[in-house]
Amino acid sequence: MYACYADSGYLRFTYEATDFSPAKAYDYIIIGGGTAGCPLAATLSESYSVLLLERGSSFNKSVLYERNVFQNLLAANDNDSPVQTFVSEDGLQNARARILGGGSMINGGFYSRADDYFYNNAGIEWDMGAVERAYEWVENSIVTRPTRLNRFQTSFFNGLLESGVDPDNGFTFDHVQGTKIGGSTFNDSGIRHGAVELLNNANPENLDVLVHAMVDRVIFSTSDSLGN
Ligand SMILES: Cc1cc2nc3c(=O)[nH]c(=O)nc-3n(C[C@H](O)[C@H](O)[C@H](O)COP(=O)(O)OP(=O)(O)OC[C@H]3O[C@@H](n4cnc5c(N)ncnc54)[C@H](O)[C@@H]3O)c2cc1C
Repeated sequence: MYACYADSGYLRFTYEATDFSPAKAYDYIIIGGGTAGCPLAATLSESYSVLLLERGSSFNKSVLYERNVFQNLLAANDNDSPVQTFVSEDGLQNARARILGGGSMINGGFYSRADDYFYNNAGIEWDMGAVERAYEWVENSIVTRPTRLNRFQTSFFNGLLESGVDPDNGFTFDHVQGTKIGGSTFNDSGIRHGAVELLNNANPENLDVLVHAMVDRVIFSTSDSLGN
């Protein structure tokens, strides 16, 4: 198919919401098939049954190309575009994703690991071995180490150093002080890779993905539909 979707195995278990009537219960239901929702669904499907609900479409060719990033933002509308504009509560015009893969399918593609500050202050006892394996999974699946910087990136890089944002760390995925060259979810040909591809690692027996599935409300119940 297309470069980023060469292994689009996830389409085998992706359905239009209107064509699908779930006749079973799931261990987990994830609302939002975005940057976090896709890898979460794939990971949980190793051991549990999972339903992933995404309000946007499963694919849009325009998001594939780096050259389209700004065009996609400008083409945002109220219907089914992969980008939706909104006004934040404090009145700022903003944009958010509406497509399987979420923000990873419309964003600037810059990739970096999180700051140590986050791990130290999140209030979670991390299994850092699992964190490392998760990073490696994502980096080996959808992240490219850039082999060259374009003119804009070179100017930006040099500008930061000249204005004192140092040291020059060269290339690293780590979050470090100073200026660095990070990873990119665009490959060297300007083709986007995104979180949607992580669904290809899911257990297809355990995962159903619905698109154009807008969740309106969540009803929690202490009994199932049979009254148990
Ligand atoms: C223009 C832009 C450029 C950016 N550039 C970068 C960058 O270069 N590097 C970087 O690291 N970050 C960047 N970001 C930020 C990054 O993309 C986001 O922080 C990240 O994608 C958020 O992930 P998420 O899983 O929390 O949400 P999302 O990826 O947005 O996923 C949420 C998903 O939930 C779906 N959804 C929402 N409500 C419902 C509902 N009621 N029912 C069903 N589905 C629903 C949405 O359609 C969406 O697919 C950028 C963001 C934007 C907007």
